Amino acid sequence: MIELQQPVTRLKGVGVSVELRLARLGITTVEDLIGHYPRRYEDFSKITPIRLMKPGPVTLRGQVQQIASRRARSRRLSITEAIISDDTGTVKAVWFNQPYLAKSLATGTEVFVSGRLEFRNNDLALQAPSIESVNAETKNTARIVPVYPETEGLSSKQLRGLILPLLANIEQLPETLPEEIIAGYKLVSRAEAMSEIHFPSSTVKLSRARHRLAFEELFFLILASQVIKQEIKTEKAPRIKLDVAVVKRLLAQLQFQLTDAQRKAAWQILQDLESDQPMNRLLEGDVGSGKTVVAMISAAVANASGHQVALMVPTDILARQHHDKIAPIMAELGFRTGILLGSQPVATKRPVLQDLAEGNIDLLIGTHALLSGPVKFNKLGLVIIDEQHRFGVQQRQVLKQKAGRLPHLLSMTATPIPRSLALTVYGDLDISIIDSLPPGRQKITTRVTRDKERDEVYSFIDQQIGEGQQVFVVCPLINESDKTGSKSVLAEAERLQKTVFKHRRIGLLHGKLKSDEKEDVMVRFARRDIDILVSTNVIEVGIDIPNATIMMIEGADHFGLAALHQMRGRVGRGTQASYCFLLYDNLSTGAAERLAAMEKTADGFRLAQIDLEMRGPGQIYGIRQHGVLELELADIGDTKLVAAVREAVASFATKPSAMLKYPHIKERVNALKAVTSLD
Ligand code: ADP
Ligand code: MG
Repeated sequence: MIELQQPVTRLKGVGVSVELRLARLGITTVEDLIGHYPRRYEDFSKITPIRLMKPGPVTLRGQVQQIASRRARSRRLSITEAIISDDTGTVKAVWFNQPYLAKSLATGTEVFVSGRLEFRNNDLALQAPSIESVNAETKNTARIVPVYPETEGLSSKQLRGLILPLLANIEQLPETLPEEIIAGYKLVSRAEAMSEIHFPSSTVKLSRARHRLAFEELFFLILASQVIKQEIKTEKAPRIKLDVAVVKRLLAQLQFQLTDAQRKAAWQILQDLESDQPMNRLLEGDVGSGKTVVAMISAAVANASGHQVALMVPTDILARQHHDKIAPIMAELGFRTGILLGSQPVATKRPVLQDLAEGNIDLLIGTHALLSGPVKFNKLGLVIIDEQHRFGVQQRQVLKQKAGRLPHLLSMTATPIPRSLALTVYGDLDISIIDSLPPGRQKITTRVTRDKERDEVYSFIDQQIGEGQQVFVVCPLINESDKTGSKSVLAEAERLQKTVFKHRRIGLLHGKLKSDEKEDVMVRFARRDIDILVSTNVIEVGIDIPNATIMMIEGADHFGLAALHQMRGRVGRGTQASYCFLLYDNLSTGAAERLAAMEKTADGFRLAQIDLEMRGPGQIYGIRQHGVLELELADIGDTKLVAAVREAVASFATKPSAMLKYPHIKERVNALKAVTSLD
């Protein structure tokens, strides 16, 4: 029997130390272990006669002629050497610090040997090859051999030793996909796929196995979003009638015209609101594309029809910024805006909660605190979530309780996920995209900057400050505690103040500050009482200070593309020319490519695409938010696969009886439905 829930400690060869190492890889059960897919493979399946072997990876079948260990000059090192022969010739094999090999392999043993044949010190030898007797089933030689994600003290070889015995009973592995789907799409069984993904019997079978498992990953992901979509359809939301006059009065207060993209997005939202089906829409728009105004229009229309609106944001700073900008505009329309933060003292919260419950607040802006128990709305009709991607069912349930029925939902994100990807991952959401920036924006000149150009950058910064501009300096860390050499906010602020920028006003911002301290800093920065704001990447999200024109990022190699783009988006918001300097500690390959991409392109969607190509879909910022959403094998960029799975889901999900027939599918879908980016 293969008992998936069994702890790995029950397996032969798993003692305390292996248990701990497995745990580091996230493996505690048998199921985790077989779900630990190889990272790549070494094809050692082809056996070459010794005489024909060339340097590189090879496999041979031969006989051990001679094997012995000795101590090297350095006493800590042991060297084992063997001579192996077949009908065509002999070859030497060398191992370091594996003295047991000489004891375990008697001369005359028939063996498979797989490894790299290399010239070293004028000597051609197999360097530390795997060697196994031909009498047993091989794990490390003479086949396509899996190479696993490893951890210190746990090699692929050991993982092979743990996984291979499990595959003996793999036929008993329960099937997870519906029979008709397996038959209809000519998929291999789950058992076969599992076996072949670990120890492929051929490359063709390996690719069938990967296809099957990738299909399954996407199947459940897409099915879950379809189920959510259908469930939302059965709910009733309040109809919110469009009041054109209110929209006009709002627009009249702005100093600018809406862009076409903003107008279109707003129109799509307003149409959704008029329906009694709950809106579930994602508004995507690059940093600075002007999503806030669109949110404001939606809120004003909802308020005008007598409904309350909640605007939820990830940080206190952002809540306060939105409140300061939005409240006066809403006030002109006769609507009252309130703010609610977890960090506020009870005495501040109490009147807000009361006003809200009595319907005296029309728009409530805040953080997660909006979802907490004591918050009672009078007539909640629309919920807007800024800088978030997806709202879990749990949150939706909470809202439903607060509103009496499901309110309309609008999520806004500046993480530009390509549309095809968004449709797959967020299939339950309708999507609006603001695909152009407001006119008149200055291009942000971006430069990857070497450390020796630092002084030049500082004098440029100083000159810009002299002309009235403001500057962000971002460091990856708060304290100096790390060893990576990255700059910390505290030390860097002090250094700048004591040396280069003695005569400038420097402010500090990081996540450990209390909420009111953060606010104080942001207010002073917005009032231009601070010239240089030294910050961690808390500055990443949403901050809008049009007078700031320089973004200097220390240790830029420590940040992902999406984060870098977000940070850069803090400047270039006004009409002044803006600059982004990317300093780095260490340009590894990935980092060099990322920074070069930042220099070359300003388009968030394009950068997201590059990120996708460089790191694979599972890694995309914003998608890898939750364990269950991780896609190990499926490539969301694989449009053929995605299309097939979408079709499969459509054929399956339209039959109401289908889900009942497969309780485990229902379970998986429920787990996926609970996924949320808010926890
Ligand atoms: P984001 O989409 O990143 O949330 P914001 O809503 O903060 O962007 O808008 C960025 C800046 O652009 C704000 O200062 C806002 O007032 C301004 N803005 C928004 N729409 C327009 C427009 N159509 N024309 C000019 N400026 C605009
Ligand atoms: Mg924003």
